[in-house]
Amino acid sequence: MTTLTACPADPAHAPLAGQLQHSYLLQQGGFINGQWGSAAAHACLPVTDPATGQRLATLAASSVGDAREAVRGASAAQAGWAALPARERAALLMAWHAQIIAHADDLALLMTREQGKPLAEARGEVMFGASFVAWYAEEAKRVHGEVLQTYSADRRVLTLRQPVGVVVAITPWNFPSAMITRKCAPALAAGCSIVLKPSEETPLSAIALCVLAQRAGIPDGVINLVLCTRDNVAEVGRALLEDSRVRKLSFTGSTQTGKTLMRLAADNVLKVSLELGGNAPLIVFDDADLDRAADGALASKFRNMGQTCTCANRILVQRSVYEAFAAKLVERVRNLKVGPGTEPGVTQGPLINHQAVQKVQRHVADALAHGARAVLGGKPDARGGLFFQPTVLLDVTPRMRICHEETFGPVAPLLAFDTEEEALALANDSSYGLAGYFYTRDLARALRMAERLELGAVGVNEAVISSEAVPIGGVKQSGIGREGAHHGIDEFLETKQITIGAL
Ligand code: ADP
Repeated sequence: MTTLTACPADPAHAPLAGQLQHSYLLQQGGFINGQWGSAAAHACLPVTDPATGQRLATLAASSVGDAREAVRGASAAQAGWAALPARERAALLMAWHAQIIAHADDLALLMTREQGKPLAEARGEVMFGASFVAWYAEEAKRVHGEVLQTYSADRRVLTLRQPVGVVVAITPWNFPSAMITRKCAPALAAGCSIVLKPSEETPLSAIALCVLAQRAGIPDGVINLVLCTRDNVAEVGRALLEDSRVRKLSFTGSTQTGKTLMRLAADNVLKVSLELGGNAPLIVFDDADLDRAADGALASKFRNMGQTCTCANRILVQRSVYEAFAAKLVERVRNLKVGPGTEPGVTQGPLINHQAVQKVQRHVADALAHGARAVLGGKPDARGGLFFQPTVLLDVTPRMRICHEETFGPVAPLLAFDTEEEALALANDSSYGLAGYFYTRDLARALRMAERLELGAVGVNEAVISSEAVPIGGVKQSGIGREGAHHGIDEFLETKQITIGAL
């Protein structure tokens, strides 16, 4: 017999509720078939503030049984949701969008408290996340089939675009809100129901989004939320993907976990979308506008404390402008302000956890041991905890670990190169292929480079290239499928052909 543990609200939970305009955004557990989990569970999921280490909440984690129940709920809701006229699904998505906008301040505060990014950035993410909901509300109405001619005059073929079915969406902690809406909005628009499993680091944003979906009137069972602890995520993930009622996996996270989930998904031949790790090059040619390139490198590298899969991981600079570019970047990085994300003026919050800090330290130590120089930062910040100094490393060489592994931290490594061919070879020397950027004023070179880089997304004289209107996704080990634009909804649709004879 299994026993249930009480996961009571901490005393620290109360101040969090007091800081929100709408405390109903806080719930204590998962959301299954329209019902919120109670505080009794097989395991408790603590949520901590990475800026202070303070316990923000203690949630009830979901069990394998809960996961199956969530799939059952999603499966039962699926047909009814898909049968709604697209404009009705669109109207419900727009109602969800309105709820998100109306609660943007609270959503931003929850995100900063559980994830650490500065409040202004968190608010930016909430709006970015909301933009997917509005975009796919529109796209819902533009899912069209075709009437095709065939080889014989007495036949016609229709194609229908139909929802793939129940979706399992597994999301990371670095964008606790936007990675959820970027999956859920196109899935809902297509007519799919969802079991969402957010990161154990950032469940509060996921809970709040589900509260708002419920308030918007999205029917019970259409969105379900399962919360895991680090200890039970593997068994719950397995239970979700082994369930034959599930038809699709949409995952964003590490390449390693993506591979594990892809193997599990193979058993039921699920349709899969994976947005995995990256190792983005940012290349500065000698004819570039160096100020623009330095602004781009700063924005790309240091947004979210460097914890984004599209952020510049390697900065390749042509030798003749290496010193000049380095000076411009250092000048900008020096102005970054480290501190808790709730403090005005802060641009760099804490990293997500101790493992993240240790990884950054390992990469810096390895680079320094192999001859790199830290001209700025290089150490944990004097504040202690999970804060790390914004860092610029010079004389970095391709053999160093920092050039092959995703650092996911506020460290800008600068490598020198001589020719375009060399820059291209360095950039493509990676098992990843998500995003990359380069700066040049030469149009022919711009086209040559854009076509030859082995990446899913390229920024030419631009380093922040994500929006709801563009497709994002990887090649090589960075993933499968695209999110955003009209491409994003295709991932949740199947094409059926209907042949009509005897005309
Ligand atoms: P990170 O190491 O940055 O947390 P992960 O890829 O491990 O990246 O996590 C991304 C998401 O995948 C999170 O929601 C996490 O809980 C989830 N996850 C990790 N391992 C598994 C697993 N075995 N089954 C299902 N989900 C998993």
